[in-house]
Amino acid sequence: MNCQKCKAENAKTYRYCNNCGSKLFDEPKDNYNTSVNKAKIFFFILLAYIGLLHVLKFESTYVTSLVCDIILQL
Ligand SMILES: [Zn+2]
Repeated sequence: MNCQKCKAENAKTYRYCNNCGSKLFDEPKDNYNTSVNKAKIFFFILLAYIGLLHVLKFESTYVTSLVCDIILQL
């Protein structure tokens, strides 16, 4: 694998150039991890929402709009 910066030859196992030290290939973007984290946050909020509904039976509309706001901002 040739370095994109200095064109030096590097072994395939190298992540960084042996000559100039720059990255040999872009690391995979963490789209998967980000969506997993978002799903975790979503379920956490959902659980908190269900818990809050049990506590605040009178203000369920307010809690619902609040949770919707949070989820839309994820
Ligand atoms: Zn290089």
